[in-house]
Amino acid sequence: MSVVIDKFSGFCWGVVRTVQIAEESLAENANVYVLGHIIHNPMEIQRLEKKGLKTISIDDFESIAHIGAKVLVRAHGEPPETYRKAFSLGIEIIDATCPVVTKLQERVRKFYDQGYQVIVFGKKDHAEVLGVRGVCNDECIVVKSSEEAMRYVDLTKKSVLFSQTTMDRPTFLQIRDTLKSQIAELIVDSMENIAVEFHAKDTICGQVSGRESQLQKFAEQNDVIIFVAGRASSNGKVLYDVCKNVNPRTYFIEDTNELVDEWFREASTVGITGATSTPQWHMNHVQQIIQTTYMVKGT
Ligand code: SF4
Repeated sequence: MSVVIDKFSGFCWGVVRTVQIAEESLAENANVYVLGHIIHNPMEIQRLEKKGLKTISIDDFESIAHIGAKVLVRAHGEPPETYRKAFSLGIEIIDATCPVVTKLQERVRKFYDQGYQVIVFGKKDHAEVLGVRGVCNDECIVVKSSEEAMRYVDLTKKSVLFSQTTMDRPTFLQIRDTLKSQIAELIVDSMENIAVEFHAKDTICGQVSGRESQLQKFAEQNDVIIFVAGRASSNGKVLYDVCKNVNPRTYFIEDTNELVDEWFREASTVGITGATSTPQWHMNHVQQIIQTTYMVKGT
């Protein structure tokens, strides 16, 4: 039985950068805190906590303000209010926001300042979307589908559509096309001379959008797929489903104690993969455990 790791798996570069910044900061200062879990992976959180990283929420700012604490902003970014509060309390921010997310925030701010109705395809309470909502004073419309867009968007206003960086492109395009066609109809049907401006900005991250087709191939090429990720990772859920749809012998684990003998019966190839928040070292560990414990029991 061969056990291989998907060569396209492991951290995306935005997460690699965030973890690097955290480790460098911890090497210099013992009082490093992170706002919310640094990534959606309990194993990596534990590893960094052992080095001294402490996870807090914004409500803890007052209690750490007097000890010279530094607070790391993770890859998802934060709303401007977080920076204002830290500044007022004298807390130093270490900004590890992914540059792709920073760029999205800047573009949203630019359109909002010019009076556009901002529409965001995303999950309302996802950390990245909370940051985006913050840059436009929470005056944007967050939608998950074209039905929601039709319900909430005012078609008579000049508008711009963005996407949370980790959403799926087919749904983004569907929302764009629905809004475009409805605006066109409105213009034709209207007795008045309406000219509605509408822009669609595809801000889905390339690190995520290319991943699905690579994963489908990988899942087809192996008898069994072990998908390693934190259960809180939304990207992990999406990518696990991609594998499961192609290969029914796909199993989700957070750690090696969840592996089951039965899964490897009569398998000649096992593929290990994971979410953009699954560390490479953890997949190596899973590979090693399967090779030493389960290969003997396979074919
Ligand atoms: S998935 Fe893309 S946007 Fe998100 S952290 Fe990674 S590189 Fe940045």
